[in-house]
Amino acid sequence: ELDLLIEKCIEYIKASNNIYLASHIQPDGDNIGSLLALGRAIEKLNKNVHIIKVDNIPKDYQFLPNMHLFKELNTEKDIDLFIALDSGDIDRLGIAKDMALKAKKLINIDHHITNENFGDLNIVLPTASATGEIVYRIIKEMDVEMDEDISTCLYVAISTDTGSFMYDSTTKYTHLVAADLLSKDIDLNNIIVNIYQSRTLERTRLFIESLNTLDILKKGKIAIVKVTQDMLKTCRATLEDAEGIVSFIRDIENVEVACILKEVNKEEIKVSLRSKKKVDVSNISLRFNGGGHKRAAGCTIYDNIENAKKLILNEIYNVI
Ligand code: 5GP
Ligand code: MN
Ligand code: MN
Repeated sequence: ELDLLIEKCIEYIKASNNIYLASHIQPDGDNIGSLLALGRAIEKLNKNVHIIKVDNIPKDYQFLPNMHLFKELNTEKDIDLFIALDSGDIDRLGIAKDMALKAKKLINIDHHITNENFGDLNIVLPTASATGEIVYRIIKEMDVEMDEDISTCLYVAISTDTGSFMYDSTTKYTHLVAADLLSKDIDLNNIIVNIYQSRTLERTRLFIESLNTLDILKKGKIAIVKVTQDMLKTCRATLEDAEGIVSFIRDIENVEVACILKEVNKEEIKVSLRSKKKVDVSNISLRFNGGGHKRAAGCTIYDNIENAKKLILNEIYNVI
C-alpha cells in the first residue's frame, strides 16, 4: 500500500509544474531537512519549486544547502501541487494553510500518530522515525540522483528527529537509511558541529536560568521547568533558545515525564513534553489540542504560566 501511495505521489509531482512545499511553524530539523531534500529533488525534475517560509529558520540549520528554495509568501501563481511535510494538522502550516487549501492537489507526508489526513493524498507513516525517512523512500523511487545535498538534508532530518538515533522510533531501517546517506560522502563532522555543537552563549545562559526553576515531583518521576519572557530578556535569548532544555531534564535519573513551560506571552504558554519509558505524552497534549509522538509532544495552553503549570501537572498526575 505504501508503494502505491509513493507511486501516486510521484505521478502527481511529474504531472505538475508549480509545486509548493511547506512544513510546520516553529521549524525543527526534520521539517527543514525534509523540505530542502524533497524541494531539491523536485527542482532536479525541472519544476518550479517554492518552499514557503512559514517561520524563522533557526540559525543551526542555515548551513544547509539550497536554502534559496525558501521563498516569501507568493499567492500570484496557480498552485498545481502543494506538499505538506511533517505537519499533523493543516493549522500547523501557519500562513501557508490558505495556499494548501487553494492548490489543485494537496499531498500530506508525515509520521505523526495524531495526523488528521487532511490531504487529497496522505502518506502518513507513524512507524517512520522522521518525515525525512519517508521522503528518502519517495526520492529513491523518483528518477533523481540521491546527491550529497539531498543526503545531507535527509541525514539532518533523521538525526534530529530521533534524538541522535536514541528514540524508540529508531529502527533497523532508520540505520540502513542513515548508512546509505553516509555513503554519499556527506560531511558528517560539519553537520554535527552545526546542529549539536554550536550552542550560543545566550542559549547557554537561558539553560542555566531555566534549570534554576527545576521542580521535581511525584518521587522524582516528574521534572518541570519554566522559561519566562523576563528570563529571555535577562539572557538576551529567544524562545527558540529553549530547545533542548526539556530533553536535558528528561535525562535525570528516574524521571519519566519532563515538561517545559514556555511563556510566549502572559496568556499563552507553549508546553513541550518528553517521556522516557512508559507514558504516552501525545495523549496528554491532545487534551490541550496539541499533538506529537509517544515520547515527544507539545501543546499551547491559553492561561498564565502558573495556571498552565497546574493544568498540565494535573494531566500528568492522571497517567503517571
Ligand atoms: P516540541 O516539544 O519539540 O516543540 O515538539 C515535540 C513534538 O510534538 C513534535 O513532533 C511536534 O511536531 C509536536 N508538537 C509540538 N507542539 C505541538 C502542537 O501545538 N500541536 C501539535 N499537533 N503537535 C505539536
Ligand atoms: Mn517536526
Ligand atoms: Mn518529524
